[in-house]
Amino acid sequence: RNDDAPVVIIGTGLAGYSLVREFRKLDKTTPVIMITADDGHSYSKPMLSTGFTKGKEADELAQADADTMARQLDITIRTFTTVTGLDTANHRVRLGDESLQYSKLVLAWGADVIRLDLGGNARDAVYSINDLIDYRDFRRALAKKKRVVIMGAGLIGCEFANDLRLGGFDIDVVAPSDTTLPGLMPPEGGEAIRRALEAEGVRFHLETVVERVDRNSTGGVDVHLANGEVLETDLIISAVGLRPRTELARAAGLEVGRGIAVGRTLQTSADDVYALGDCAEVDGYVLLYVLPLMASARALAKTLAGEPTEVNYGAMPVMVKTPCCPTAVCPPPLGAEGHWECEVEGNDTRALFTGADGQLLGFALTGKFAPEKQALAKEMPKLHQ
Ligand code: FAD
Repeated sequence: RNDDAPVVIIGTGLAGYSLVREFRKLDKTTPVIMITADDGHSYSKPMLSTGFTKGKEADELAQADADTMARQLDITIRTFTTVTGLDTANHRVRLGDESLQYSKLVLAWGADVIRLDLGGNARDAVYSINDLIDYRDFRRALAKKKRVVIMGAGLIGCEFANDLRLGGFDIDVVAPSDTTLPGLMPPEGGEAIRRALEAEGVRFHLETVVERVDRNSTGGVDVHLANGEVLETDLIISAVGLRPRTELARAAGLEVGRGIAVGRTLQTSADDVYALGDCAEVDGYVLLYVLPLMASARALAKTLAGEPTEVNYGAMPVMVKTPCCPTAVCPPPLGAEGHWECEVEGNDTRALFTGADGQLLGFALTGKFAPEKQALAKEMPKLHQ
């Protein structure tokens, strides 16, 4: 261990940059090196599914490049550099043939998209969008095209459906669930979003999956569904889920569950190694959202600056960016006992999940009820107290 070595942060997504911003408020001098496999642009990832709604091209979504960030925060950023291994016994990070010493190491390397193993010869027409570079590639491919098939009817699939529809594209959504956002809200809420998207012209093909994608003779792509339907399209977006990146951590002997396991101090099972953001499982919770990573960044910055601090999560509602049906969800904790009660008026839904003792544990609000999210969030218990 070498206390004079820099703090090393792997990842320049919202988790890495939020942490270093918070850290620099408390400590202006400790050397910090950030390492990223991408170009290190600072951007707000949630904006990727609002490009057409907000009239922004991919490049307009970037807030600052890596050089600007390095100057602003007085840190070193190594872009297009991939971490290939961790040697926690010697406090070193491996970058291919090179290795780098750290005093404290932070893993903020995000989550990988799940890629389905589709048949057919048009797999290069399938895009997964999980960072600005992916988005730039997708927008380039979209030029002069009209039709998009989206696989997945979760938060990201529905947001892209609404956004691309607003951009004037022809949209089909294919998903195995019987409604939208199945993991986040009860069916009444999911149905409200589906109906609202359908009213905008989005077509849904539910309870089926894409099996193969083949180029056809007119330059389009035939998307073959398990139910026998064939949809003709130009491009396909795969939005079927994310998985925290855990392989390098597991290989280094760190404790790993669904994400890299950390307690509320965000320390992994190795000394001086921390994790936050989409790659982390914090006290059993894997929360792939912005609010939890911001709370984590504030707590971890204090710990790195010498004041050990635990993260506290309040209720953290997520706004689903479907302007055709404003939606706020705060899903109950995994495995929570209780039941949903739904009030439905057209596409306006108020669904409350309460425990046996009457305690509000989660909610899903669509349409005119969405603004109630703040008041309801105040009634929720904290995840950690
Ligand atoms: P990432 O942003 O993925 O950053 C990971 C970083 O690690 C990158 O810099 C990458 O290059 C680097 N990296 C990975 N592996 C290596 C390696 N081996 N070596 C070096 N560097 C590496 N959340 C909300 O709360 N509200 C929303 O409305 C919302 N909308 C979303 C819309 C979309 C389209 C998407 C995709 C997500 C959305 N989310 C939303 C989720 C939210 O954006 C993420 O939870 C958050 O951005 C994750 O940040 P992160 O820094 O943990 O990961």
